[in-house]
Amino acid sequence: MTAEIRKAGHTIDYPVPMYSYRRRFTREAGFGGIALGGYQPIRVESMTNTHTMDTVATVEQCRRLYEAGCEIIRLTVPTEKDAGNLRNIRDQLRRDGISTPLVADIHFSPKAAMKAVEFVENIRVNPGNYATGTKFSSDDYTEAEYRAELEKVREEFTPLVRKARDLGVSMRIGTNHGSLSDRIVSRFGNSPEGMVEAALEFARICEDENYFDLLFSMKSSNVRVMIHAYRLLVSRADAELRHAYPLHLGVTEAGDGDEGRIKSAMGIGALLEDGLGDTIRVSLTEDPVNEVPVGFAIVRKYNEHLQVKGDKAYLKVNHVVEHARPVSGHEAMPFDPYRYARRPCRRFEAGAEPLGGDAMPRVETSARTSIADPDALRAEIMERLAPELPGDSIRSEFVNVGVGCVEDLPALQSLLDSLGGLRDRVVASTADTALFPRLLPLVSRARLDIVEGESLGTGFIDELEEGGAAMEFSFIHEDSSVQVPAEILSRIASRLMRKGLSRFLLSVVSSQGLFATRRLVLELSKAGLDIPVVVRYRDRGGDRSGVLIDSAVQSGTLFCDGIGDLVAIETGLKAEEEVGLAFNILQAARVRMSKTEFISCPGCGRTYFELEKTTALIKQRVSHLKGLKIGIMGCIVNGPGEMADADFGYVGSGKGRVSLYVGRDCVVENMPEAQALERLIELIRQNGKWMEPS
Ligand code: SF4
Repeated sequence: MTAEIRKAGHTIDYPVPMYSYRRRFTREAGFGGIALGGYQPIRVESMTNTHTMDTVATVEQCRRLYEAGCEIIRLTVPTEKDAGNLRNIRDQLRRDGISTPLVADIHFSPKAAMKAVEFVENIRVNPGNYATGTKFSSDDYTEAEYRAELEKVREEFTPLVRKARDLGVSMRIGTNHGSLSDRIVSRFGNSPEGMVEAALEFARICEDENYFDLLFSMKSSNVRVMIHAYRLLVSRADAELRHAYPLHLGVTEAGDGDEGRIKSAMGIGALLEDGLGDTIRVSLTEDPVNEVPVGFAIVRKYNEHLQVKGDKAYLKVNHVVEHARPVSGHEAMPFDPYRYARRPCRRFEAGAEPLGGDAMPRVETSARTSIADPDALRAEIMERLAPELPGDSIRSEFVNVGVGCVEDLPALQSLLDSLGGLRDRVVASTADTALFPRLLPLVSRARLDIVEGESLGTGFIDELEEGGAAMEFSFIHEDSSVQVPAEILSRIASRLMRKGLSRFLLSVVSSQGLFATRRLVLELSKAGLDIPVVVRYRDRGGDRSGVLIDSAVQSGTLFCDGIGDLVAIETGLKAEEEVGLAFNILQAARVRMSKTEFISCPGCGRTYFELEKTTALIKQRVSHLKGLKIGIMGCIVNGPGEMADADFGYVGSGKGRVSLYVGRDCVVENMPEAQALERLIELIRQNGKWMEPS
C-alpha cells in the first residue's frame, strides 16, 4: 500500500502503509552466519568502545556483548593499523567459539577500509567523509567542481566495492546528519535530502560494479530529522535502485539513561511501525552491553510477526502467513512524512492552560486513587501538580480523576473546593453519558470515555452546552479496525460543531494508538474539522523498560508527525516518573523543550576522555537550563559533525585535552580537560544562556 499526501496541489508518495503494520520486504544481505533483511528477524547490533589496537580489551568487550545476546558487533577502525588488528580480534573470538558477525566502522580512510574488509563480515562507510574532507563550510561548488569531486570519490571507492564484492562482504552505506561532505551541503544543505543524495551516490557506484550486498543507514541525533531521512531514502531508493536494500536504524548520540532510551525507541520505533528496518543499534553513552536488552525490547513486538521455517522467513499479519508481495494502491495521509509541520487546529482556553493552535503541547497524568478516598486523592493530585516547585519545573499540568456515578459528585465538589486555585487543573472523566453533562459545570475540563461495543446513544449530545468545561471525547478501542474510532469520533465532532460547540478535544485509547490516532486525524481533515487531538497512552501492564519504549513509540511518533496538542500518560510508574516520561517524550520529539538536551556520543576506540563520568559531571552543572542542546563528543574527528545542531559542544581533542564549540565554531582549542567544564559554563554565560539553578 502506498501512502499519499496531497499538499498544495501536488502528491508525494510514501511507499509504506500508514494505518497498519506491514514490514517492507528487502533483499537479504550477507552477514556471516546470520541472515539479514527479507523477513528475517530484525537484528540487534552494538559497538565496542575500546581501542581497536587493544586486542585483549576489545575481545573481552565483544565476549560480554555476545553473552548479552548481541547479534552484530561493530568496531571502530580509524587507521590501517587498527584495520590490521581486526584479524587478531576476529581470530581470538572465533577460537573462543564466538561467531558473531563483525562490522568495521570506517570514516575518512580508504586505506583502513581496504585492509579491514579482509577480516569482517560487513564494512560501514560514511559517504560524508569517505575519501573526502569535511570542513563544515557551504562554499558553492560549480557543476564542474561538483562532478570532479564525485569522480574522485568514485575512483577511491570503487576498489573497496570490488574487493568487498569479491570477498562476499556486505557493506553499510551509513550517512550521518552533520557529517555530510561540503559538496553535498553546498547543494542540498545539511538536510534529509542531502543525506539521501549522499547515500545514493555511493549506492549507484556499487550497482555499477554489480555489487548488491548493501544496507543503508541515515542517522541523526535529532529524532525528527532521522525519521524524515529514512523515509525519504526509502521513497527515492526504491524508485531508483535495482533492489529494496535493508536498513540499519539508529539515533546517534542519543545520550544515556531514560532520555537516551526514549529518544532511541522513538526514532527507531517510528520507522519500525512504518515497516522499515532490518537491524538496529541503540546508541547509549553507557557500557555498550546495556544497549543490547534495550534493542531487543524495541524489536520484540515486530519480530513476533515473523516466522522462520528452514532458511525461509515469512511475515504473519493477523495470524496469516504472508509471502513477500509488491506494495500497491494508495492511502491518503494527513501529514507530510518527509518534513515536520504541526497539524493546524483551533486553540481555546481550558482552565489553567491554552490547548491547540500554537500552544505547546500540555501534559496530563491520571490519579490512581479512588474518589472514595478524598484525602488520599487530594494528596496524590498535589504530588502530581507539585505547586511547591519553582514556576518552570516539570510537573503534571492536568490531573485526571475518574468519576463513576452520580453519588461521587459531592466528593468531587469537596475535592475541588479543597484544591483552591488548583481546581482548574483537575480533569473529571466518566464513561457514563448521563453523568457527563453534570460534570461540566463543576470542572474546567471533562472527558467522556466511549467504550467500544457499548451502546452510546445520541441523546447526550443534546444536553451539552457551550460555556462550561472544555470537553474531550475519548474512544476506548480494542478489537475493531482503526477506522471505527475515527469514524465515530468524527461524526460526534460534526454534530457538536453543528450544535455550535467548539471547545472540545478528541482522542483514542488503543494498543494501536499510533495508527488509530493517525486515522482519526485523517477523518477530521476529510471532514474539514480543526479539532485539537490528545495523544493518550495507557500502558497494559508492561515492565518499566517496556513502558518507556512503547509509550515513546506510540505517542512520540505522533508528535514527530506534527500530531498532538496534549499528551496524557497512564502507566503503573510512580507519579514523578510518569510526569518525567511525558516531558521526555515531548522533548525527544522536539515539540516542547523543558530541559537541556544532551547529545552525547556512545564512545568508541577514538574517545579521548571518560565519556560516562564526564557526561554525568556536565549534566550535574547545566541540566537546569531550559531548551539548550549541549554536545558531549568523544573525539574531534567525528564529534563536531555528529553533534549536528548542538548550541554548545564539549569535544575531546587529544588525551586530556578538550575543545569547546559555540554552534559549529570552535572557540576554545585543545584546553586541559580539568578546566574545560568551568570554561564551558563561562561560554554559556557569555552567550546569555546561563541561569542560576533554583
Ligand atoms: S564522536 Fe568520535 S568518539 Fe564519539 S562515537 Fe563518534 S567517532 Fe567515536
